[in-house]
Amino acid sequence: MIPFLSLKDVTALHGAEIQEAVRRVTESGWYLQGTENKNFEQHYAQYIGTDYCVGCANGLDALIWIFRAYIELGVMQPGDEVIVPANTYIATILAITENGLTPVLVEPKLNTLEMDDSQIEARITEKTKAICIVHLYGRLAYTERVEALCKKYQLKLIEDNAQAHGCLAADGRKTGSLGDAAGHSFYPGKNLGALGDGGAVTTNDQQLAETIRSLANYGSSAKYVFQYCGRNSRLDEIQAAVLDVKLKHLDEDNQRRKQIAQYYIENIHNEFVILPDTLPMESNVFHLFPILSPLRDVLQEYLRDNGVGTLIHYPIPPHKQKCYKQWKRMRLPITEQIAQQELSLPISPTMTIEQAAKVVELLNQITVM
Ligand SMILES: *Cc1c(COP(=O)(O)O)cnc(C)c1O
Repeated sequence: MIPFLSLKDVTALHGAEIQEAVRRVTESGWYLQGTENKNFEQHYAQYIGTDYCVGCANGLDALIWIFRAYIELGVMQPGDEVIVPANTYIATILAITENGLTPVLVEPKLNTLEMDDSQIEARITEKTKAICIVHLYGRLAYTERVEALCKKYQLKLIEDNAQAHGCLAADGRKTGSLGDAAGHSFYPGKNLGALGDGGAVTTNDQQLAETIRSLANYGSSAKYVFQYCGRNSRLDEIQAAVLDVKLKHLDEDNQRRKQIAQYYIENIHNEFVILPDTLPMESNVFHLFPILSPLRDVLQEYLRDNGVGTLIHYPIPPHKQKCYKQWKRMRLPITEQIAQQELSLPISPTMTIEQAAKVVELLNQITVM
């Protein structure tokens, strides 16, 4: 049996250190807004390469707070537009609509699965205030063209870094430090995952960081003084302590993912399986290993019948979801093709090359039926 992902094994990989961190917080009697958050925020900002990191409750909130803070600061207002990839997890889009902003969905490229930057400029209007890039599957989505468009039209560059902790741009900067602000998720299955929900915003903008810290704490900047109608959206001390342990091992954990990915790339040979273009190894942290196949459902069933777990990221694109029924008739053929053909193979820091070899052996056996 090769599960898609065993979180139990992932936690056990650094189990003793994690147990020790949990015990320390448990016995301290201090469970929110303490030294564990301070330490983790400092270490994570340092790791990403930004001046500020603000912990919050989850990755969706991190993205919500970025847009909300820009609204509070007068940089954006409800009704403004945000350019965003059509092929993404729904949370990216929810963060925009939650703030009364309008997502402008841009098609991906079939060979990268990331937003097609050649289609962005034609979609920019007077109302456009930001481009939100998503380093989906752990792949670098940043391009110099996106950066140039942000400069030319004075747009904010926002990164959804939920799937790409530790990913590098060509110049060595980390994703999460490439734009004006970035949202990070520490959902357990992410490359840097907590033992529950967690998230953070990284930025070099002090005013933005302070606004977000306040919004995520009831809108309060001083005790019992409320500047904004905020919410309770904090990272708790146990999660911060666990994340601080796992951050130390993130690069080595990502390295193992890369070894598995390298094995897949070199050994998968099946005319019905299309791999996305390879990136320089440092620009992909392989949160997922997506393949495309017109026989996707056949592959998934065959692997399942032989004990291999896979998932689809994502079976229904945001514009086809009931919650966005106003987009029902929108045509985004590349996004829809990805939803029909994408399959994510197992990949994790606890997977062995022997397991990867088994997956490849099964996959290479499949011919047209
Ligand atoms: C996981 C994820 C999020 C949301 O993070 P949560 O912590 O689950 O709220 C946002 N965007 C992308 C691309 C994600 O994969």
